Order: sequence, then C-alpha cells, then structure tokens
Amino acid sequence: MSETDLKSIGELAALCKRRGFIFQSSEVYGGLGSCWDYGPLGVELKRNIKERWWQSMTYRDDIEGVDAAILMHPTVWKASGHIDGFSDPLVDCRECKARFREDLIDTAKACPNCGNKGTFTEPREFNLMFKTQMGAVESESSTVFLRPETAQGIFVNFLNVQSTMRKKLPFGIAQIGKAFRNEITPGNFIFRTREFEQMEMQYFIKPGMQGEEMERWKEIRYQWHLDNGLRPDRLQWAPHPADKLAHYADAATDIEYKFPMGWGEMEGIHSRTDFDLKQHQEFSGKNLSYVDQADNNKRYIPYVIETSVGCDRTLLAVLADAYRVEFAGDKERERVVLKIHPELAPNKVAVLPLMKKGELMERSDRIVSNLRKKFKTDYDVAGSIGKRYRRQDEIGTPFCVTVDYDTLEDQAVTVRHRDSMQQTRVAINKLEEYINQQM
Ligand code: ATP
Repeated sequence: MSETDLKSIGELAALCKRRGFIFQSSEVYGGLGSCWDYGPLGVELKRNIKERWWQSMTYRDDIEGVDAAILMHPTVWKASGHIDGFSDPLVDCRECKARFREDLIDTAKACPNCGNKGTFTEPREFNLMFKTQMGAVESESSTVFLRPETAQGIFVNFLNVQSTMRKKLPFGIAQIGKAFRNEITPGNFIFRTREFEQMEMQYFIKPGMQGEEMERWKEIRYQWHLDNGLRPDRLQWAPHPADKLAHYADAATDIEYKFPMGWGEMEGIHSRTDFDLKQHQEFSGKNLSYVDQADNNKRYIPYVIETSVGCDRTLLAVLADAYRVEFAGDKERERVVLKIHPELAPNKVAVLPLMKKGELMERSDRIVSNLRKKFKTDYDVAGSIGKRYRRQDEIGTPFCVTVDYDTLEDQAVTVRHRDSMQQTRVAINKLEEYINQQM
C-alpha cells in the first residue's frame, strides 16, 4: 500500500464542495469574493474545533468566556489604533488597473497581472475595516465598524469580568467570534477571507511577568495544535523580529503550518503590554486599573499575553493534514481518506445496513437511535457497500458499522476502522463502549 498527500489547495476545495464541507458564498449568483459557506459536514467540523478550543481554554479556574457584540462603540477603534493604523499599503498598475499590496510584490519589476514595467502608482494606505451605518435615519446615523478582531470586546469587558467573577491576577478572558477584514489580496480558499472566525484569549498579568507567561502560553498553544492530530514536521515557530513588531507588542511569535502553498500563520501569540487597557482608560475616561491585594493594594494596569488563532485556518490545516490518497496496487483500489482526529471528525460513526430489507432496517434503525444519544451518527442505506465505505472515508468518519443477516442471529455488528480498514465483530450492547474506547 502506498499513499500520497494533498498536492494543492484546489484538490481540497474540490473535495470540500463535492462532499458538503464548504461552498462558495452566494454561489447561485456567481459567488462573492473570498466569502465561503460551511455546509453540513463543514459546520460539524468547525463546531468540533471550536468546542475543543473552548474546553481547553475555559474549563479551568483562571479563564472565563465572553461573547461580545460585533458592533462596538466607534471610539473603541480609535483607542485601539485601528482607525489610524489598521491598513495595508496599496499600489495600482496604471496600465491594467490591477491592485496589489505593496509589501507582497516587487514594484521595481513588471506588473504580475499585465507584465508592463514601471507602471505602479505611489502606495496609499488602505484601511481594512468594513464600515456601516447605525440608526434608522441616515443623516443622524453614526458610522460603526464590523470588528476586525475579537480582542477589543475582551479588553472593554476586563473590569466587568474581573469584578463579577471576583478574579485575581493572573486570569484570562476567552472569546470565539466573527471578525471582518476587507483584505486586498484574499485567496487560497479559506486561508485568507474577508469574514472569518477567531478564537482569542487575553491573559491579564502583573507587569514584569510577560516573559515567563509568554513562554508558558507558547507551549500550551503549540501542544493544542499537535493534539488536533497535526503532523509535527508541518508545524513551526515564526518569531516576529523586533523591528517588525506591531505597535502594541513587546514580543510576538506565530505558529505556522506547512500548507500545500507554503508555510502560513495559523496562530499569533503576542505580548501586548498594557497598551490596550491604557488606551481604553484614556479614551473612555474610566479607571481600568487593578488593585493588587496580594501586593500591598498596589494599583496598576495589567499586562496582557494574547493567544489568537483563526478557526478557519485551523480547519484548513486539519483538512490538509488529514488528506491522503491511498493505492493498493491497481487503480481500482485507490481511495481518498481524511484521517481526521476522531474527536474532530464531522461524523463519528456511520451505520450501513447491508441491504435495504425489512428486518435489517428495523434493527439498524434501533442501533442508529441508540448511537445518536452519544455520537453524531450518519445513516446511509443506499448504494453498494464499497461505495458507501468510500464516501465515509472521504468525509473522515472513523467507524463504519455494518448490519448484516448474521446480526439478527448473533446480536453483533461489524465495525470497520477508517485508517486500517480492519474489521471487528462487536456485540450490539457493547458498541457504544467499544467506540468510546477506540476514539
Ligand atoms: P496575516 O499576516 O495572515 O494577515 P495577521 O497577522 O493579520 O494575519 P492576526 O491579526 O494576528 O493575523 O489574527 C490572528 C489570527 O486570525 C491569524 O493567525 C489567522 O489565523 C486569523 N486570520 C487573520 N486574518 C484572517 C483572514 N483574513 N482570513 C482568515 N483568517 C484570518
């Protein structure tokens, strides 16, 4: 048996569409630039990724969750620096009018679109935030922004969470939610989109602790990606050089994954100092400092270590990593299989009655409704068993349960394992326990 990995993002995008993971947004109208819809299997996979992150980050003493509004007071973005500084430098080709990020092309060379030389305009700063109007009467309405990151919803709630949950430093606040950026050069399927989901955590600490805490969170976050089943040789650190740090950071490093198109950022871990809370204190006029009872009631603005991971990019990495084409000699026996971590797989089990006949179906119905109390279970009764296995392999279902005529006699079913394709006979009353053990 030999196997090959994913060769291109296009190959994965085709599978995602064919099998109901991800569709183009508004496809019947020809799509909308870099916006994607998650289909029935994509939404399950995404929920499982979010659930794994939420459990690892909030099922503990020192981190609480929030779900802040996407629309925020416009001054938030003034204070955070996004109105003045959240922009990319943009150049236009005077010949073909194509637009590029200046930092991503060599403007001394020919236009990548039309091939003409020396035609670029001077760079202009292009703000990435989407604007909209709030209020019914346009003349009286105010401009608000779709948040470009979830972090600010956490900073403005720092005192609310600290006081209501009686938190002492160090403690964190976690959030999962949509963010929007009017990216100039989006692409590579769901790698860079204009609407995406972030999973962010801000950890508030005593000033001076940032070096130690940064190291601690780097390890925790790297391990999370490994625990999602990603291959270790496809993960790496990408520290930001000191002269490239964002205005708010005193240290930053990315976790990168080796996508088919090259290494790309999945998560950023940033030491944000007291920049954000200080800015919000100044712009709001509210005192956002913390009284440290453990240190003679000293008052100070906490420092922050941030972990910020893209949900969609994690999902892309999980799919790209799991994708295999296996060959067992002849072309006939080729199969595409998604070797997704069982906990992340959209369906855990598929029940496949060997034939669509009375007694077999009745027995299968009962098995399905019992399994569904515990596991997301697919029920597929149509087509040859070989084709049904192939479909389940392609959508990453870890276990297929076949119900055959022997089942009616021995009260047992055949469990087929996705990765090894090995089959085991298991008693129906032990099925749930067996699957749990194998997960
Ligand atoms: P990039 O350099 O790729 O533009 P960034 O450094 O601006 O990313 P952050 O602001 O640190 O990204 O956002 C944290 C995480 O959010 C990223 O690691 C990424 O996983 C995700 N993310 C950011 N922008 C996008 C986008 N346009 N589409 C999908 N995910 C994104």
